[in-house]
Amino acid sequence: MDYQGLLEEVATHVAPHIGQGEVAQYIPALASVDPRRFGIAVADVDGTVTGVGDWEVPFSVQSISKAFSLALVLEQDGERIWRRVGREPSGNPFNSLVQLEYENGIPRNPFINAGALVVTDRLQTLTGDASTTMLEFLRAESGNPDLAFDQAVAASESEHGDRNAALAHFMASYGNLDNPVTTVLEHYFWQCSIEMSCRDLAVAGGFLARHGLRADGSRLLSPRQAKRINAVMLTCGTYDAAGDFAYRVGLPGKSGVGGGIVAVIPGRCTLCVWSPGLDARGNSVAGMAALDHFTTLTGWSVF
Ligand code: GLU
Repeated sequence: MDYQGLLEEVATHVAPHIGQGEVAQYIPALASVDPRRFGIAVADVDGTVTGVGDWEVPFSVQSISKAFSLALVLEQDGERIWRRVGREPSGNPFNSLVQLEYENGIPRNPFINAGALVVTDRLQTLTGDASTTMLEFLRAESGNPDLAFDQAVAASESEHGDRNAALAHFMASYGNLDNPVTTVLEHYFWQCSIEMSCRDLAVAGGFLARHGLRADGSRLLSPRQAKRINAVMLTCGTYDAAGDFAYRVGLPGKSGVGGGIVAVIPGRCTLCVWSPGLDARGNSVAGMAALDHFTTLTGWSVF
């Protein structure tokens, strides 16, 4: 497969969309990112990595981290997490409080903020330091020892984190957090602030395309666990636009308000695209268009 030619064609096709949408404003440190950035990378299961545009420029992973924290908790703790968080699409914005009250403090899925806070809480209990565990995991999986937290983004989010704090306190009132709210929030903000490039994320997510195997052949997850993460990414990974994402792209995917989207083609490759302009539901406009065109050109959707 000529990935280089393919990605160049995708980049040309989406050029008119680059810069469309709004850069996330509610985390002030993210608002200053240049909306005209665009990069895309593909990591084949055979280890080849190809990219075009700004594919080596680090950006804030934000909610993409939620797919990796779920992987870590499933790896270390098996299926227990599903007693505390569901796995159904929410149909509501990622930071909605309403549903949580109706459903007695059990978040709909691990990829809305409330669900991710529960996963971070569990990772904190299991490891004693959820965010450092996550950073080290991502360094190892991406093969990039220089990955780091963005302190300004973490601080900005903590300062403007009233909504996430409300979600966390609310779940604590239902007994669905084991650690203090402040500890859980702090580790959650740190994990979201990690900076990675499209290259780093495509390589780090390789185990999802390899049915749980790392690039060196060692096993991180069972095929069943990798299947489960991909399934939750497909149904819940792109906020309340998961239906539209399945319709247009037809792949498991996880997006973040930093403008990145990781998508998995099981058995073949992991992709990451980045462009900071977001649509009204928080997904990268050019990123969605790029993945849409990629699966149209290749016919590699899971459907
Ligand atoms: N750190 C962001 C928040 O909690 C993540 C949002 C996102 O990327 O969906 O609001």
